[in-house]
Amino acid sequence: MDYSRLCEVYSHLEKTTKRLEKTEILAEFLKHAQVEFEQIICLVQGTVFPPWDDRKIGMSSQLIIKVISLATGTSINGVVKELKRTGDLGLVAELLIREKKQKTLRKEILTVKKVFENLRKLPELTGEGAVARKVGLVAELLSFAEPREARFIIRTVLETMRVGIAEGIVRDAIARAFDVNAKDVEGAFSLLADYAEVAKLAKEKKLNEARIKIGTPIKVMLAIRVESIKEGFEAIGKPAIFEYKLDGFRVQIHKKGDKVALFTRRMENVTKQFPEVPLLIKKYIKGESFIIDSEIVGYNKKTYTYLPFQNISQRIKRKYDIERLVKEFPVEINIFDIVYYEGKNLLDVPLIKRRKLLEGIVTHLPWQIRLTKRLITSNEREAEKFYKESLKHGNEGIMIKNPNAIYIPGRRVEGWVKLKPIMETLDLTITGAIWGEGKRATWLGSFVVACRKDHEFLEVGKVGTGIKEKDNDVTFEALTKELKPYIIEHKGKEVKIKPYLVLEIAYEEIQKSPTYSSGFALRFPRVVRIRYDRSAGECDDIARVVELYNKQKRKEK
Ligand code: ATP
Repeated sequence: MDYSRLCEVYSHLEKTTKRLEKTEILAEFLKHAQVEFEQIICLVQGTVFPPWDDRKIGMSSQLIIKVISLATGTSINGVVKELKRTGDLGLVAELLIREKKQKTLRKEILTVKKVFENLRKLPELTGEGAVARKVGLVAELLSFAEPREARFIIRTVLETMRVGIAEGIVRDAIARAFDVNAKDVEGAFSLLADYAEVAKLAKEKKLNEARIKIGTPIKVMLAIRVESIKEGFEAIGKPAIFEYKLDGFRVQIHKKGDKVALFTRRMENVTKQFPEVPLLIKKYIKGESFIIDSEIVGYNKKTYTYLPFQNISQRIKRKYDIERLVKEFPVEINIFDIVYYEGKNLLDVPLIKRRKLLEGIVTHLPWQIRLTKRLITSNEREAEKFYKESLKHGNEGIMIKNPNAIYIPGRRVEGWVKLKPIMETLDLTITGAIWGEGKRATWLGSFVVACRKDHEFLEVGKVGTGIKEKDNDVTFEALTKELKPYIIEHKGKEVKIKPYLVLEIAYEEIQKSPTYSSGFALRFPRVVRIRYDRSAGECDDIARVVELYNKQKRKEK
């Protein structure tokens, strides 16, 4: 297939922000693609490797400046000058190729295959002369490229292609293109982790033939939140398995013979970052081939106590100085599940049996490798004690699991629930609102809430949940009535409100965010109640938001 056809698709995708339109564009394209699924599906997502592949293109902007200079015969200074003007090397390449093309004739048609293959070769080049050969491979592509093609090539190499193709769109596009169910597409993807493979099966209507492969991550099972032990028992039944919910990172560990690979929850390969883990896995777990699910947790090597996730987050992010990090930030492997063992898929085996198998094959070595601490009980008081003990050890909370639960990749289902302390609430004032839609058009439907900074107010988010439509506590109607006299500005559906009313807001997490003037945003905020006892001048200030932000044991999403 000509690369220009793919570029046509990129251009269409760039022009719309609508999810449905993007899905249709991609579906139409996939329908007509014959065999190049691997290439197309990677390239539309702006890469040439699936996320779990540890190869990376790895070319810097500096090198790309050289590439463009070489391919267009422009001096390095000339390229840098254009970069300063446009701020985008993709555009620079397009522009300079256009100028050059006016003088020369195109020699060869660029194919998707050629682009894909040249880019895939990049990480393999190492040693003497590697840089020059890398520059050569990309420059070769540019020398065949039309101006627009040059722009997309450079964005792919720099991994800055943003045409808005998220995983969900690929899934829906495959379903649409081959007339299969999106749920089945997702099911196959959770085992294969590769939409190219999934597309091939979908085309032949063989999605049910997807199988786990060692070395390819599967999606992990997730949990629903509950607010108390009682609610946990209600969701899971009795007895339930209680496990420590450790504050580390989720790692799926694959072993086959001598080879061990580690994948994060986002399916990224992090084997290189944890050189000590494969050694422990090979030595202390019996078996030739398996896939286990674990949380890798940092601990303080002097006090032997667990550390919150952010203390060891560098272990995942940093790609160099690994040996030093291993020593400075030691980790313990906490194993809580197994999904594949010696050629057998265990997804449909009840958790209690999977755990039994683990007990037979894992050697317990404190602060190195162990099975996650657990308790099986039907007794609320015992469970409560276990929860407190878990928090005392510096963990995030507990997981509550159904002993009969099968392992469902990629889904938040009721087989697993999690319990952790709710964050302290914030008292925030309303500084703006948005009129509702349809039936609610006469009500203010969502509220901009802000904290104080001296005599100013800084926004931290928008809240619409927690407010009941009809009820006796906080209603939209009551809030609208209350706030109407304080509206100071109208702008379309949005209004500005003079700070006066204070709401108590609960939330799941505080995140840094450029969206709001405070620089923070609340995740899943909900109104607890109106604080008539507080004036706007008494709402929480930015220092409190920062304090709570720092206090929370934040996980990298
Ligand atoms: P959270 O911020 O609460 O971790 P989340 O959205 O990241 O939420 P959840 O499915 O809600 O993920 O919680 C499960 C996560 O908790 C797992 O992904 C894993 O990283 C971690 N975890 C810690 N201990 C356990 C355990 N014993 N069993 C399963 N997951 C555990």
